[in-house]
Amino acid sequence: MTAHSLLSGKHILDGGMASELEYLGANIDGPLWSAHVLEESPDKIIAVHRAYIEANAEIIETASYQVSRMGYAEVGLDPGRADAALLRSVGLARQAAEFYPDRRILVAASLGPYGAALHNGAEYHGNYTCTFDDLIAFHRQRINVLASALPSESPDLLAFETLPSLAEAEAIGQAMGPHPELRAWFSFTCRDGIHVAHGELLRQCASAVSAFPQTAAVGINCTHPSLIDSLIAELRAGCDKPVIVYPNSGEGWDAEHRCWTGTSDPAAFGDEAREWFSAGAQVVGGCCRTRPAHIREAAASRPNN
Ligand SMILES: [Zn+2]
Repeated sequence: MTAHSLLSGKHILDGGMASELEYLGANIDGPLWSAHVLEESPDKIIAVHRAYIEANAEIIETASYQVSRMGYAEVGLDPGRADAALLRSVGLARQAAEFYPDRRILVAASLGPYGAALHNGAEYHGNYTCTFDDLIAFHRQRINVLASALPSESPDLLAFETLPSLAEAEAIGQAMGPHPELRAWFSFTCRDGIHVAHGELLRQCASAVSAFPQTAAVGINCTHPSLIDSLIAELRAGCDKPVIVYPNSGEGWDAEHRCWTGTSDPAAFGDEAREWFSAGAQVVGGCCRTRPAHIREAAASRPNN
């Protein structure tokens, strides 16, 4: 299957993992968010995947956004445990999909950016102090683990997401070089209607990643829904790859008081999803604070439904 055909048609991606785990009573306050739940409460991870599949998601993302050797070492955990946790996250998603043998469910391995392993919000500006080679090494390590996984722990796609900069996307392209057989999407977090978080033009980033043989889709995530229409146009100006969008719920994070503000109406999210599909998105899902109700509404808004 070519990278392009894997996502032909219109598809529904799942929504937020961390907030749904919290709703199920898991403690996600630690610096690794949902990562430690992989070890302590795998049943809750499966339950979240199933809730999204039942809300009509056809692509589910593993609970591995913050799983990396570097991230584990930063919080004093044995880095070797990160490799096992990454593989386990894929295995849990596959187990959840097995409950629905009549449906085609794709498993995408969630791979956060370098900044997510620093636990300081650096992924939302991308001003890292590391070298370009450090970025390549960071991504190569997880890619190698997944590339050599057994079938039961092997994802259909790698989801490089919340990418803040062109440099990080280019580093990933280099890290994937030895593995042309892999399939991946590249999703950026954006600060306005045309720029990624670090400041490069989204269309420039889309053009760069579309040159990689592994690229199955390019997209936008962890961004306010009001910016998505404009950003889809930028993606389409930069490349002809399938477009994937999974914005946040629309609530805002108040860093001073450490809480979410505003509200998010799943029905309104569904109305926006209809616009995103008609603007050219091929895959729609949700990022922070989206829940199965948002995904169900997005699925109901998909064309030909
Ligand atoms: Zn997010």
